[in-house]
Amino acid sequence: MRVNETFLSLQGEGFFTGTPAFFLRFSGCNLQCPFCDTQHQSFTEMTEEEIVREACRHKPRHIVITGGEPALQLTQSLVDKLHEAGFFIQVETNGTLSLPEGIDWVTVSPKTDPPTPFRGRSIDELKILYMGKDTDPDTILKSLPLGREGGGLPRLYLQPLDTGDTERNRIILRETIDYIMQHPKWSLSLQTHKLLGIK
Ligand code: SF4
Repeated sequence: MRVNETFLSLQGEGFFTGTPAFFLRFSGCNLQCPFCDTQHQSFTEMTEEEIVREACRHKPRHIVITGGEPALQLTQSLVDKLHEAGFFIQVETNGTLSLPEGIDWVTVSPKTDPPTPFRGRSIDELKILYMGKDTDPDTILKSLPLGREGGGLPRLYLQPLDTGDTERNRIILRETIDYIMQHPKWSLSLQTHKLLGIK
């Protein structure tokens, strides 16, 4: 499998913010978003056994599988091996491709406009990048087949886009908070790992 990087850190975003986790970042993506903030192209070849062995070297049993787009490579056998090793598996996906069965938590962050209907199991967490007043989270929400296993909406998060420009980021953060105050089913997600200066 083509692995961009593995590392131990705290989950920085969304529902599991602050949770210690082992991160598995797969190389490559099927989209080319202009605002992409991951250098996901380079890779090292690892077998599934090597990935599980590396993950097991650390204490946390929460694994975040991300990318790039993890659905390009994630296999049912790797999911099963990680479960056998006792991991809670969270996958962060752009939602355009189907995923193996049995993943414990699916976080979808749609990047296409309109979003591609999510294929596969229901979503646990929807995280939309708020890019400014043109972003319409409720319209995106209506266009997605939502619902969690066991019923109910997924957790809904708006995350202000990191533009790399401090002043523009400040404006977008203000607009994101304003939107949430007017549409309180959404919660704020911050990239706390960037705020903390950790990976
Ligand atoms: S979907 Fe995510 S990883 Fe892929 S190009 Fe867009 S921002 Fe980058």
